[in-house]
Amino acid sequence: MGYRQPSMAFQLYDTRQKQQVDFVPLEAGKVKIYNCGPTVYSTAHIGNFRSFVFADLLRRYFEYRNFEVTQVMNITDVGHLTEDDRADAGGEDKLQKTARELGWDPFKVARHFEDGFHSDRVALGIQNAHQYPRATEHIPDMLVQVQQLLDRGHAYIPEGTGEVYYDISSFPEYGKLSGKVTEDLEAGARVEVNTVKRHPADFALWKTDEGHLMQWDPHADSTWEGYPGARPKLDPRINRGFPGWHIECSAMSARYLGDTFDIHTGGEDNIFPHHECEIAQARGATDGQFSRYWMHARHLLVNNKKMSKREGTLYTLEDLKAKGYTAKEIRYLLLSNHYRQPMNFTLEGLDAARASIGRLQNARDLLVEREGLSEPSKATDVNEAISKLESGFGESLDDDLNTANALAAVFEFVNTVNRLQPTGAEAAQALAALDRADHVLGVLSKESKSGTISKAELDGELDQAPSPDRAKELLAQQSLSPAELRQVALARHAARKDKDWPTADAIRDGLKALGVLFEDTPQGVRYKLP
Ligand SMILES: [Zn+2]
Repeated sequence: MGYRQPSMAFQLYDTRQKQQVDFVPLEAGKVKIYNCGPTVYSTAHIGNFRSFVFADLLRRYFEYRNFEVTQVMNITDVGHLTEDDRADAGGEDKLQKTARELGWDPFKVARHFEDGFHSDRVALGIQNAHQYPRATEHIPDMLVQVQQLLDRGHAYIPEGTGEVYYDISSFPEYGKLSGKVTEDLEAGARVEVNTVKRHPADFALWKTDEGHLMQWDPHADSTWEGYPGARPKLDPRINRGFPGWHIECSAMSARYLGDTFDIHTGGEDNIFPHHECEIAQARGATDGQFSRYWMHARHLLVNNKKMSKREGTLYTLEDLKAKGYTAKEIRYLLLSNHYRQPMNFTLEGLDAARASIGRLQNARDLLVEREGLSEPSKATDVNEAISKLESGFGESLDDDLNTANALAAVFEFVNTVNRLQPTGAEAAQALAALDRADHVLGVLSKESKSGTISKAELDGELDQAPSPDRAKELLAQQSLSPAELRQVALARHAARKDKDWPTADAIRDGLKALGVLFEDTPQGVRYKLP
Protein backbone atom coordinates (compact mmCIF):
# COMPACT_ATOMS: atom_id res chain seq x y z
CA MET A 1 0.00 0.00 0.00
CA GLY A 2 1.38 3.36 -1.03
CA TYR A 3 0.58 5.18 2.19
CA ARG A 4 3.23 7.79 2.76
CA GLN A 5 3.90 9.38 6.09
CA PRO A 6 4.33 13.15 5.84
CA SER A 7 8.05 13.89 5.77
CA MET A 8 8.02 17.32 7.40
CA ALA A 9 7.48 17.95 11.08
CA PHE A 10 4.06 18.82 12.35
CA GLN A 11 3.99 22.53 13.07
CA LEU A 12 1.68 24.19 15.55
CA TYR A 13 1.11 27.73 16.73
CA ASP A 14 2.30 27.85 20.32
CA THR A 15 0.47 30.50 22.35
CA ARG A 16 3.44 30.93 24.69
CA GLN A 17 6.11 31.35 22.01
CA LYS A 18 3.62 33.38 19.94
CA GLN A 19 4.69 31.72 16.72
CA GLN A 20 4.34 28.59 14.63
CA VAL A 21 6.98 26.06 15.67
CA ASP A 22 7.99 22.47 14.90
CA PHE A 23 6.38 20.05 17.31
CA VAL A 24 9.08 17.94 18.95
CA PRO A 25 7.57 15.29 21.22
CA LEU A 26 8.96 14.63 24.66
CA GLU A 27 9.29 10.99 23.68
CA ALA A 28 9.64 9.99 20.01
CA GLY A 29 6.43 8.63 18.50
CA LYS A 30 4.33 9.55 21.52
CA VAL A 31 2.25 12.57 22.43
CA LYS A 32 0.57 13.41 25.71
CA ILE A 33 -2.26 15.93 25.51
CA TYR A 34 -4.35 17.64 28.17
CA ASN A 35 -7.59 19.37 27.14
CA CYS A 36 -9.51 21.71 29.41
CA GLY A 37 -12.92 20.11 29.42
CA PRO A 38 -16.45 21.25 30.16
CA THR A 39 -17.80 22.74 33.37
CA VAL A 40 -20.87 20.57 33.76
CA TYR A 41 -23.44 23.08 35.01
CA SER A 42 -25.40 23.45 31.76
CA THR A 43 -25.68 21.94 28.30
CA ALA A 44 -22.59 22.58 26.17
CA HIS A 45 -23.19 24.91 23.21
CA ILE A 46 -21.52 25.01 19.81
CA GLY A 47 -18.96 27.54 21.08
CA ASN A 48 -17.78 24.96 23.62
CA PHE A 49 -17.86 22.27 20.97
CA ARG A 50 -15.63 24.30 18.66
CA SER A 51 -12.86 23.85 21.21
CA PHE A 52 -13.61 20.14 21.72
CA VAL A 53 -13.84 19.38 17.99
CA PHE A 54 -10.48 21.12 17.56
CA ALA A 55 -8.99 18.99 20.36
CA ASP A 56 -10.38 15.87 18.65
CA LEU A 57 -8.96 16.93 15.27
CA LEU A 58 -5.53 17.37 16.85
CA ARG A 59 -5.69 13.94 18.47
CA ARG A 60 -6.92 12.25 15.29
CA TYR A 61 -4.19 13.88 13.21
CA PHE A 62 -1.53 12.57 15.57
CA GLU A 63 -3.09 9.12 15.16
CA TYR A 64 -3.01 9.55 11.38
CA ARG A 65 0.71 10.25 11.77
CA ASN A 66 1.03 7.02 13.79
CA PHE A 67 1.73 8.71 17.11
CA GLU A 68 0.76 6.89 20.26
CA VAL A 69 -1.62 9.41 21.81
CA THR A 70 -2.57 9.82 25.46
CA GLN A 71 -5.39 12.32 25.80
CA VAL A 72 -6.83 13.53 29.09
CA MET A 73 -9.83 15.86 29.40
CA ASN A 74 -11.03 17.07 32.77
CA ILE A 75 -14.63 17.41 33.89
CA THR A 76 -15.04 20.50 36.08
CA ASP A 77 -17.69 19.84 38.70
CA VAL A 78 -16.59 22.13 41.53
CA GLY A 79 -14.72 25.39 42.08
CA HIS A 80 -15.53 27.20 38.82
CA LEU A 81 -17.05 30.48 39.98
CA THR A 82 -19.22 32.84 37.98
CA GLU A 83 -16.73 35.73 37.80
CA ASP A 84 -14.13 33.59 36.08
CA ASP A 85 -12.50 36.35 34.04
CA ARG A 86 -10.52 37.21 37.17
CA ALA A 87 -7.68 35.04 38.40
CA ASP A 88 -9.12 35.10 41.90
CA ALA A 89 -12.71 34.64 40.83
CA GLY A 90 -15.60 35.70 42.98
CA GLY A 91 -19.29 35.03 42.67
CA GLU A 92 -21.06 31.74 43.06
CA ASP A 93 -19.87 28.27 42.12
CA LYS A 94 -21.47 27.56 38.72
CA LEU A 95 -22.54 24.07 39.84
CA GLN A 96 -24.09 25.43 43.00
CA LYS A 97 -25.96 28.13 41.07
CA THR A 98 -27.63 25.55 38.81
CA ALA A 99 -28.27 23.30 41.81
CA ARG A 100 -30.07 26.17 43.52
CA GLU A 101 -32.06 27.04 40.40
CA LEU A 102 -33.15 23.44 39.73
CA GLY A 103 -33.53 22.48 43.37
CA TRP A 104 -31.14 19.58 42.80
CA ASP A 105 -28.13 18.25 44.64
CA PRO A 106 -24.99 19.71 42.94
CA PHE A 107 -23.61 16.20 42.33
CA LYS A 108 -26.81 15.32 40.47
CA VAL A 109 -26.40 18.50 38.39
CA ALA A 110 -22.83 17.47 37.56
CA ARG A 111 -23.69 13.92 36.48
CA HIS A 112 -26.71 15.06 34.48
CA PHE A 113 -24.78 17.58 32.37
CA GLU A 114 -21.74 15.33 32.14
CA ASP A 115 -23.94 12.60 30.62
CA GLY A 116 -25.36 15.16 28.20
CA PHE A 117 -21.87 16.28 27.25
CA HIS A 118 -20.80 12.72 26.48
CA SER A 119 -23.84 11.92 24.34
CA ASP A 120 -23.37 15.13 22.33
CA ARG A 121 -19.66 14.40 22.06
CA VAL A 122 -20.25 10.91 20.69
CA ALA A 123 -22.81 12.25 18.18
CA LEU A 124 -20.23 14.81 17.02
CA GLY A 125 -17.73 12.04 16.34
CA ILE A 126 -15.39 13.23 19.11
CA GLN A 127 -13.37 10.19 20.15
CA ASN A 128 -13.11 9.05 23.75
CA ALA A 129 -10.25 10.65 25.62
CA HIS A 130 -8.22 8.12 27.61
CA GLN A 131 -9.27 9.71 30.89
CA TYR A 132 -12.05 12.08 31.96
CA PRO A 133 -11.03 12.90 35.54
CA ARG A 134 -13.64 14.72 37.64
CA ALA A 135 -12.45 17.50 39.93
CA THR A 136 -14.59 16.26 42.84
CA GLU A 137 -12.82 12.89 42.68
CA HIS A 138 -9.32 14.39 42.82
CA ILE A 139 -9.43 16.58 45.91
CA PRO A 140 -6.40 14.73 47.44
CA ASP A 141 -4.31 15.40 44.30
CA MET A 142 -5.14 19.09 44.64
CA LEU A 143 -4.32 19.17 48.35
CA VAL A 144 -0.97 17.52 47.61
CA GLN A 145 -0.17 20.28 45.13
CA VAL A 146 -1.36 22.97 47.54
CA GLN A 147 1.00 21.59 50.19
CA GLN A 148 3.88 21.43 47.69
CA LEU A 149 3.27 25.10 46.91
CA LEU A 150 3.27 25.99 50.60
CA ASP A 151 6.48 24.00 51.12
CA ARG A 152 8.23 25.67 48.21
CA GLY A 153 7.24 29.21 49.21
CA HIS A 154 4.71 29.88 46.43
CA ALA A 155 1.62 29.91 48.63
CA TYR A 156 0.50 31.25 51.99
CA ILE A 157 -2.36 30.97 54.45
CA PRO A 158 -3.59 34.38 55.58
CA GLU A 159 -3.86 34.49 59.35
CA GLY A 160 -7.06 32.96 60.68
CA THR A 161 -8.65 32.24 57.27
CA GLY A 162 -7.94 28.54 56.66
CA GLU A 163 -7.63 29.48 52.96
CA VAL A 164 -4.57 29.14 50.73
CA TYR A 165 -3.45 31.74 48.18
CA TYR A 166 -0.84 31.70 45.48
CA ASP A 167 1.81 34.40 45.88
CA ILE A 168 2.29 35.68 42.32
CA SER A 169 5.41 37.63 43.30
CA SER A 170 7.11 34.26 43.91
CA PHE A 171 6.78 33.28 40.24
CA PRO A 172 8.34 35.85 37.89
CA GLU A 173 6.99 34.08 34.81
CA TYR A 174 3.40 34.81 35.86
CA GLY A 175 1.75 36.69 32.98
CA LYS A 176 4.05 35.35 30.24
CA LEU A 177 1.49 33.12 28.50
CA SER A 178 -1.16 35.83 28.28
CA GLY A 179 1.31 38.71 27.89
CA LYS A 180 -0.12 40.47 30.93
CA VAL A 181 2.11 42.70 33.03
CA THR A 182 1.74 43.49 36.72
CA GLU A 183 -0.29 46.66 36.06
CA ASP A 184 -2.84 44.70 33.97
CA LEU A 185 -3.02 42.09 36.68
CA GLU A 186 -3.66 44.70 39.34
CA ALA A 187 -6.25 46.48 37.23
CA GLY A 188 -8.05 43.18 36.69
CA ALA A 189 -7.94 42.13 40.31
CA ARG A 190 -11.03 42.29 42.45
CA VAL A 191 -11.31 45.40 44.53
CA GLU A 192 -11.69 44.08 48.02
CA VAL A 193 -11.94 45.83 51.31
CA ASN A 194 -9.90 44.33 54.16
CA THR A 195 -8.29 41.91 51.74
CA VAL A 196 -6.32 39.17 53.40
CA LYS A 197 -4.08 38.78 50.38
CA ARG A 198 -0.48 39.97 50.11
CA HIS A 199 -1.04 41.21 46.58
CA PRO A 200 -4.44 42.01 45.04
CA ALA A 201 -3.72 39.73 42.06
CA ASP A 202 -2.87 36.67 44.20
CA PHE A 203 -5.41 33.92 43.63
CA ALA A 204 -7.05 31.25 45.78
CA LEU A 205 -5.92 27.63 45.72
CA TRP A 206 -8.25 26.57 48.50
CA LYS A 207 -11.29 28.51 49.65
CA THR A 208 -13.60 28.37 52.59
CA ASP A 209 -17.27 29.25 52.47
CA GLU A 210 -19.74 27.88 54.99
CA GLY A 211 -22.56 28.15 52.49
CA HIS A 212 -20.86 26.09 49.78
CA LEU A 213 -22.71 22.85 49.06
CA MET A 214 -19.60 20.84 48.15
CA GLN A 215 -16.93 20.89 50.83
CA TRP A 216 -14.12 18.67 52.03
CA ASP A 217 -12.26 18.44 55.31
CA PRO A 218 -8.59 18.29 54.22
CA HIS A 219 -7.64 16.37 57.35
CA ALA A 220 -10.41 13.75 57.35
CA ASP A 221 -9.57 10.16 56.38
CA SER A 222 -12.71 10.05 54.22
CA THR A 223 -11.30 12.82 51.97
CA TRP A 224 -8.22 10.67 51.28
CA GLU A 225 -10.05 7.40 50.67
CA GLY A 226 -8.77 5.70 47.53
CA TYR A 227 -5.90 8.14 46.97
CA PRO A 228 -3.11 5.99 45.52
CA GLY A 229 -0.15 8.15 46.55
CA ALA A 230 1.42 8.85 49.92
CA ARG A 231 -0.68 11.12 52.11
CA PRO A 232 1.40 14.21 52.83
CA LYS A 233 1.64 16.05 56.11
CA LEU A 234 -0.83 18.85 55.48
CA ASP A 235 -0.57 22.23 57.12
CA PRO A 236 -3.08 21.97 59.99
CA ARG A 237 -4.27 25.52 59.40
CA ILE A 238 -6.02 24.58 56.12
CA ASN A 239 -9.71 24.47 56.90
CA ARG A 240 -12.70 22.64 55.52
CA GLY A 241 -13.50 24.11 52.10
CA PHE A 242 -13.26 23.58 48.34
CA PRO A 243 -10.58 24.00 45.66
CA GLY A 244 -10.10 26.97 43.35
CA TRP A 245 -10.87 26.21 39.70
CA HIS A 246 -7.29 26.41 38.41
CA ILE A 247 -5.70 23.90 40.79
CA GLU A 248 -7.77 20.98 39.42
CA CYS A 249 -6.10 21.07 36.01
CA SER A 250 -2.52 21.33 37.24
CA ALA A 251 -3.15 18.57 39.81
CA MET A 252 -5.03 16.18 37.49
CA SER A 253 -2.61 16.60 34.59
CA ALA A 254 0.23 15.75 37.00
CA ARG A 255 -1.64 12.63 38.08
CA TYR A 256 -2.35 11.32 34.57
CA LEU A 257 0.39 12.81 32.38
CA GLY A 258 3.23 13.57 34.79
CA ASP A 259 5.06 16.82 35.62
CA THR A 260 6.01 17.36 31.98
CA PHE A 261 3.84 16.57 28.99
CA ASP A 262 3.46 17.74 25.40
CA ILE A 263 0.40 19.82 24.59
CA HIS A 264 -2.27 21.64 26.57
CA THR A 265 -5.35 22.94 24.75
CA GLY A 266 -8.36 25.07 25.56
CA GLY A 267 -10.50 27.91 24.32
CA GLU A 268 -8.93 31.36 24.02
CA ASP A 269 -10.82 32.52 27.13
CA ASN A 270 -8.79 29.98 29.12
CA ILE A 271 -5.47 31.74 28.41
CA PHE A 272 -6.04 34.17 31.23
CA PRO A 273 -6.59 33.57 34.00
CA HIS A 274 -7.02 29.79 33.93
CA HIS A 275 -3.92 28.65 32.06
CA GLU A 276 -1.71 31.38 33.45
CA CYS A 277 -2.61 30.16 36.94
CA GLU A 278 -2.18 26.50 35.97
CA ILE A 279 1.39 27.24 34.84
CA ALA A 280 2.23 29.10 38.06
CA GLN A 281 0.86 26.21 40.13
CA ALA A 282 2.35 23.30 38.19
CA ARG A 283 5.79 24.84 37.73
CA GLY A 284 5.81 26.13 41.30
CA ALA A 285 4.90 22.74 42.78
CA THR A 286 7.52 20.61 41.02
CA ASP A 287 10.62 20.94 38.86
CA GLY A 288 8.73 19.66 35.80
CA GLN A 289 8.16 21.79 32.72
CA PHE A 290 4.36 21.27 32.77
CA SER A 291 2.97 21.60 29.23
CA ARG A 292 5.60 22.18 26.54
CA TYR A 293 3.17 23.62 23.96
CA TRP A 294 -0.09 25.55 24.29
CA MET A 295 -2.84 25.60 21.67
CA HIS A 296 -6.03 27.67 21.89
CA ALA A 297 -9.18 27.73 19.77
CA ARG A 298 -10.81 31.08 18.99
CA HIS A 299 -14.37 31.84 19.91
CA LEU A 300 -17.14 31.64 17.42
CA LEU A 301 -19.76 34.16 16.50
CA VAL A 302 -23.26 33.33 15.37
CA ASN A 303 -24.55 35.51 12.53
CA ASN A 304 -21.54 37.76 13.13
CA LYS A 305 -22.58 38.46 16.71
CA LYS A 306 -21.63 37.14 20.10
CA MET A 307 -23.74 34.12 20.99
CA SER A 308 -26.68 35.18 23.08
CA LYS A 309 -29.23 33.29 25.11
CA ARG A 310 -31.74 36.10 24.57
CA GLU A 311 -31.43 35.96 20.79
CA GLY A 312 -31.57 32.17 20.82
CA THR A 313 -28.11 31.79 19.27
CA LEU A 314 -26.49 29.96 22.16
CA TYR A 315 -27.16 26.85 20.09
CA THR A 316 -26.93 23.42 21.64
CA LEU A 317 -26.73 20.29 19.54
CA GLU A 318 -30.41 19.63 20.29
CA ASP A 319 -31.40 23.11 19.04
CA LEU A 320 -29.71 22.47 15.72
CA LYS A 321 -31.05 18.93 15.40
CA ALA A 322 -34.54 20.39 15.91
CA LYS A 323 -33.82 22.61 12.91
CA GLY A 324 -33.13 19.48 10.86
CA TYR A 325 -29.31 19.42 10.94
CA THR A 326 -27.17 16.45 11.86
CA ALA A 327 -24.28 16.30 14.31
CA LYS A 328 -21.90 15.38 11.47
CA GLU A 329 -22.89 18.55 9.60
CA ILE A 330 -22.11 20.59 12.70
CA ARG A 331 -18.78 18.78 13.11
CA TYR A 332 -17.88 19.46 9.48
CA LEU A 333 -18.67 23.16 9.75
CA LEU A 334 -16.71 23.51 13.01
CA LEU A 335 -13.62 21.74 11.73
CA SER A 336 -13.58 23.28 8.26
CA ASN A 337 -12.91 26.67 9.85
CA HIS A 338 -9.33 26.98 11.05
CA TYR A 339 -9.29 26.77 14.83
CA ARG A 340 -7.31 30.00 15.26
CA GLN A 341 -9.44 32.09 12.91
CA PRO A 342 -12.56 33.90 14.03
CA MET A 343 -15.52 31.81 12.94
CA ASN A 344 -18.96 32.97 11.98
CA PHE A 345 -21.47 30.16 12.51
CA THR A 346 -24.62 30.36 10.36
CA LEU A 347 -27.37 27.97 9.30
CA GLU A 348 -26.31 28.63 5.68
CA GLY A 349 -22.89 27.30 6.69
CA LEU A 350 -24.59 24.12 7.87
CA ASP A 351 -26.42 23.81 4.53
CA ALA A 352 -23.08 24.09 2.74
CA ALA A 353 -21.60 21.49 5.12
CA ARG A 354 -24.46 19.15 4.21
CA ALA A 355 -23.69 19.54 0.51
CA SER A 356 -19.96 18.95 1.09
CA ILE A 357 -20.49 15.80 3.15
CA GLY A 358 -22.96 14.62 0.50
CA ARG A 359 -20.33 14.92 -2.23
CA LEU A 360 -17.76 13.03 -0.18
CA GLN A 361 -20.26 10.36 0.85
CA ASN A 362 -21.44 9.84 -2.72
CA ALA A 363 -17.89 9.36 -3.87
CA ARG A 364 -17.30 6.87 -1.08
CA ASP A 365 -20.51 4.93 -1.81
CA LEU A 366 -19.55 4.72 -5.50
CA LEU A 367 -16.12 3.35 -4.59
CA VAL A 368 -17.75 0.72 -2.38
CA GLU A 369 -19.94 -0.34 -5.30
CA ARG A 370 -17.11 -0.32 -7.81
CA GLU A 371 -14.81 -2.24 -5.49
CA GLY A 372 -17.10 -5.23 -6.06
CA LEU A 373 -16.96 -5.00 -9.85
CA SER A 374 -14.73 -7.51 -11.55
CA GLU A 375 -14.51 -5.68 -14.90
CA PRO A 376 -10.91 -4.53 -15.40
CA SER A 377 -10.23 -1.00 -14.24
CA LYS A 378 -9.70 1.49 -17.03
CA ALA A 379 -8.16 3.92 -14.61
CA THR A 380 -4.39 4.12 -14.65
CA ASP A 381 -3.76 7.20 -12.53
CA VAL A 382 -5.31 6.12 -9.25
CA ASN A 383 -1.99 5.70 -7.47
CA GLU A 384 -0.93 9.14 -8.57
CA ALA A 385 -4.19 10.61 -7.25
CA ILE A 386 -3.69 8.81 -3.93
CA SER A 387 -0.17 10.13 -3.42
CA LYS A 388 -1.32 13.62 -4.35
CA LEU A 389 -4.10 13.35 -1.77
CA GLU A 390 -1.75 12.11 0.91
CA SER A 391 0.90 14.73 0.38
CA GLY A 392 -1.64 17.56 0.08
CA PHE A 393 -3.64 16.43 3.09
CA GLY A 394 -0.59 15.83 5.29
CA GLU A 395 1.24 19.01 4.34
CA SER A 396 -1.87 21.09 5.01
CA LEU A 397 -2.49 19.63 8.43
CA ASP A 398 1.21 19.84 9.26
CA ASP A 399 0.74 23.57 8.77
CA ASP A 400 -0.93 24.16 12.16
CA LEU A 401 -3.98 22.07 11.15
CA ASN A 402 -4.92 23.98 8.01
CA THR A 403 -8.19 22.15 7.46
CA ALA A 404 -9.37 24.31 4.55
CA ASN A 405 -6.37 23.23 2.45
CA ALA A 406 -6.65 19.65 3.67
CA LEU A 407 -10.29 19.54 2.57
CA ALA A 408 -9.36 21.05 -0.79
CA ALA A 409 -6.95 18.12 -1.29
CA VAL A 410 -9.73 15.67 -0.42
CA PHE A 411 -12.19 17.26 -2.86
CA GLU A 412 -9.61 17.28 -5.62
CA PHE A 413 -9.06 13.57 -5.00
CA VAL A 414 -12.77 12.85 -5.03
CA ASN A 415 -13.22 14.72 -8.32
CA THR A 416 -10.36 12.78 -9.89
CA VAL A 417 -11.66 9.43 -8.68
CA ASN A 418 -15.19 10.22 -9.85
CA ARG A 419 -13.74 10.89 -13.29
CA LEU A 420 -11.39 7.87 -13.35
CA GLN A 421 -14.04 5.42 -12.10
CA PRO A 422 -11.64 2.74 -10.85
CA THR A 423 -12.91 -0.79 -10.19
CA GLY A 424 -11.76 -3.78 -8.15
CA ALA A 425 -8.42 -3.45 -6.38
CA GLU A 426 -7.88 0.11 -7.58
CA ALA A 427 -11.27 1.18 -6.24
CA ALA A 428 -10.35 -0.53 -2.97
CA GLN A 429 -7.08 1.44 -2.76
CA ALA A 430 -8.86 4.72 -3.45
CA LEU A 431 -11.45 3.84 -0.83
CA ALA A 432 -8.76 3.06 1.75
CA ALA A 433 -7.07 6.42 1.06
CA LEU A 434 -10.34 8.28 1.46
CA ASP A 435 -11.04 6.42 4.70
CA ARG A 436 -7.59 7.28 6.06
CA ALA A 437 -8.33 10.96 5.47
CA ASP A 438 -11.73 10.49 7.07
CA HIS A 439 -10.08 9.08 10.18
CA VAL A 440 -9.02 12.68 10.75
CA LEU A 441 -12.22 14.33 9.49
CA GLY A 442 -14.69 11.86 11.01
CA VAL A 443 -17.65 12.87 8.84
CA LEU A 444 -18.32 9.91 6.54
CA SER A 445 -20.60 6.97 7.11
CA LYS A 446 -18.92 3.62 6.54
CA GLU A 447 -22.29 2.09 5.75
CA SER A 448 -23.07 2.38 2.08
CA LYS A 449 -26.18 4.31 1.09
CA SER A 450 -26.86 2.01 -1.83
CA GLY A 451 -26.55 -1.66 -2.56
CA THR A 452 -28.26 -4.99 -3.05
CA ILE A 453 -29.61 -7.34 -0.42
CA SER A 454 -29.60 -10.76 -2.03
CA LYS A 455 -32.49 -13.26 -1.93
CA ALA A 456 -30.26 -15.62 0.04
CA GLU A 457 -29.60 -12.94 2.68
CA LEU A 458 -33.28 -12.06 2.93
CA ASP A 459 -34.25 -15.73 3.37
CA GLY A 460 -31.39 -16.40 5.76
CA GLU A 461 -32.28 -13.51 8.06
CA LEU A 462 -36.04 -14.04 7.92
CA ASP A 463 -36.23 -15.10 11.57
CA GLN A 464 -34.71 -11.71 12.53
CA ALA A 465 -37.37 -9.73 10.62
CA PRO A 466 -38.96 -7.03 12.79
CA SER A 467 -42.73 -6.88 13.29
CA PRO A 468 -44.86 -4.84 10.87
CA ASP A 469 -45.37 -2.32 13.70
CA ARG A 470 -41.61 -1.88 14.20
CA ALA A 471 -41.24 -1.40 10.43
CA LYS A 472 -43.94 1.29 10.55
CA GLU A 473 -42.07 3.02 13.41
CA LEU A 474 -38.84 3.04 11.40
CA LEU A 475 -40.65 4.44 8.36
CA ALA A 476 -42.11 7.22 10.50
CA GLN A 477 -38.58 8.61 11.06
CA GLN A 478 -37.16 11.45 8.97
CA SER A 479 -34.57 9.19 7.42
CA LEU A 480 -33.26 5.64 7.49
CA SER A 481 -29.75 4.41 8.08
CA PRO A 482 -28.56 1.52 5.88
CA ALA A 483 -29.00 -0.83 8.87
CA GLU A 484 -32.58 0.37 9.38
CA LEU A 485 -33.30 0.02 5.66
CA ARG A 486 -32.20 -3.59 5.94
CA GLN A 487 -34.64 -4.13 8.80
CA VAL A 488 -37.49 -2.65 6.78
CA ALA A 489 -36.58 -4.78 3.75
CA LEU A 490 -36.68 -7.88 5.96
CA ALA A 491 -40.10 -6.93 7.35
CA ARG A 492 -41.41 -6.56 3.79
CA HIS A 493 -39.85 -9.86 2.76
CA ALA A 494 -41.56 -11.57 5.74
CA ALA A 495 -44.91 -9.95 4.86
CA ARG A 496 -44.63 -11.20 1.28
CA LYS A 497 -43.78 -14.72 2.47
CA ASP A 498 -46.92 -14.57 4.64
CA LYS A 499 -48.91 -13.27 1.63
CA ASP A 500 -49.70 -10.18 3.74
CA TRP A 501 -49.92 -7.90 0.70
CA PRO A 502 -51.35 -4.83 2.50
CA THR A 503 -48.31 -4.70 4.85
CA ALA A 504 -45.86 -5.32 2.00
CA ASP A 505 -47.46 -2.52 -0.03
CA ALA A 506 -47.58 -0.13 2.95
CA ILE A 507 -43.84 -0.66 3.50
CA ARG A 508 -43.13 -0.02 -0.15
CA ASP A 509 -45.17 3.21 -0.05
CA GLY A 510 -43.42 4.26 3.17
CA LEU A 511 -40.00 3.83 1.53
CA LYS A 512 -41.13 5.83 -1.46
CA ALA A 513 -42.33 8.64 0.82
CA LEU A 514 -38.83 8.79 2.37
CA GLY A 515 -37.27 9.13 -1.08
CA VAL A 516 -35.70 5.65 -0.98
CA LEU A 517 -35.30 3.97 -4.37
CA PHE A 518 -36.25 0.32 -3.86
CA GLU A 519 -36.69 -2.30 -6.55
CA ASP A 520 -37.11 -6.05 -6.79
CA THR A 521 -34.60 -7.71 -9.08
CA PRO A 522 -33.93 -11.38 -9.84
CA GLN A 523 -30.92 -11.20 -7.45
CA GLY A 524 -32.80 -9.59 -4.55
CA VAL A 525 -33.68 -6.01 -3.69
CA ARG A 526 -31.66 -3.04 -4.86
CA TYR A 527 -31.88 0.19 -2.88
CA LYS A 528 -30.54 3.71 -2.81
CA LEU A 529 -31.06 5.92 0.22
CA PRO A 530 -31.49 9.66 -0.44
ZN1 LIG B 1 -8.38 23.60 32.84
